[in-house]
Amino acid sequence: MKILVINSGSSSIKYQLLDMTNESVLAKGLVERIGIEGSRIIHRVDEKKQIIEKPIKNHEDGLKDVLILLTSDEYKVISSLNEINAVGHRVVHGGERFSSSVIIDKESLDTIEMMSFLAPLHNPANVMGIKAAMDLLPNVPEVAVFDTSFHQTMPKTSYLYAIPYEYYERYKIRRYGFHGTSHKYVSRRAAEIIGKDVKSLKIITAHIGNGASIAAVKYGESIDTSMGFTPLEGLVMGTRSGDLDPAVVSFLAQEEGITAKEVVDILNKKSGVYGLTKGFSSDMRDIEDNALEGDKTCRLALDIYEYRIAKYIGAYAAAMNGVDVLVFTAGVGENSPVTREEICENYLSYLGIKIDKEKNDFKGLERIISTPDSKVTVIVVPTNEELMIARETKELIDKNN
Ligand code: ADP
Repeated sequence: MKILVINSGSSSIKYQLLDMTNESVLAKGLVERIGIEGSRIIHRVDEKKQIIEKPIKNHEDGLKDVLILLTSDEYKVISSLNEINAVGHRVVHGGERFSSSVIIDKESLDTIEMMSFLAPLHNPANVMGIKAAMDLLPNVPEVAVFDTSFHQTMPKTSYLYAIPYEYYERYKIRRYGFHGTSHKYVSRRAAEIIGKDVKSLKIITAHIGNGASIAAVKYGESIDTSMGFTPLEGLVMGTRSGDLDPAVVSFLAQEEGITAKEVVDILNKKSGVYGLTKGFSSDMRDIEDNALEGDKTCRLALDIYEYRIAKYIGAYAAAMNGVDVLVFTAGVGENSPVTREEICENYLSYLGIKIDKEKNDFKGLERIISTPDSKVTVIVVPTNEELMIARETKELIDKNN
């Protein structure tokens, strides 16, 4: 079975074509700057990379070009579009309606569109991708895999905010959590690596990239996660503040003469390590390099970033009354030995966590980095959301055939 995975943003489409007989990637790429000047497609097959610069006015045009590339004689990825058995779409928000992936029909598409009130920046873009695929591949089943659905197992104690209950009833204001596909993938993969059933383990998964969230995965299910009603809550991120006293919003609005929405925009786009370093960088590589060279502002930003992660690890160890496995993933988690080591060494020895510094000194591989006598197994697992989306898509299609 060959599955096309699509992750569409407001001006981009990331895609991968996977052969599920051996879960290999046949081709992948990115259509970017859709509808804006300088649009292009970066297409990769094995080691070959091609960049095609051309005007792309909308998602349907972008996807059409991708399908042409996939069937082109030059690469021979597939000989005809009939070889694509299903399309798996990443959809950011499934609200409370979708606790698992779904085959897309008119009703589910309408519901996904309706969920745009919860994710106005993301769901409309996801819907554009779905509609384009439906038009161009009319006989191929489409599946939606939601960022939020893995966290739908959270109990009310985790997902309700202590605000008047009517706001939950009226507006569905609650914790949803995001990066669910990643938390699900790495928790399962970590269990596989240590040869145990995920249903027997208490796992903390730290997805720390530009966007970052952490989850408590107890016996295979998410029971809490740091992102909330929106991806703004929780950890310090590249440009997002994470947790803060909500009273700051009205105070800043008044002092700066701006609206609450504008303040939230600042909290999303100008805060995090970018804000802490006075606009120096939102990229953790820059922050880390400068911190290690003795720059005090970057050192402080990195300290705050790591401290927040450590606080959540402590909180989730309490939430699960213990922790067996700690997983690091995403850009920073996979590639930064320094951050991994500082979090574990400076804050987590009370949990019995011990890191093997030599084993920890690497980037981008699957590896256990704790010592054999560490009470918690610490593992780096590169995330693979596309593979997880393809697996979920295959599972649903198989079930329905
Ligand atoms: P997103 O998908 O949220 O955009 P990623 O998971 O790709 O983010 O992570 C990007 C982040 O990972 C950036 O801040 C980048 O600097 C950081 N990163 C990548 N490599 C390293 C490294 N070697 N050391 C520290 N940070 C790194």
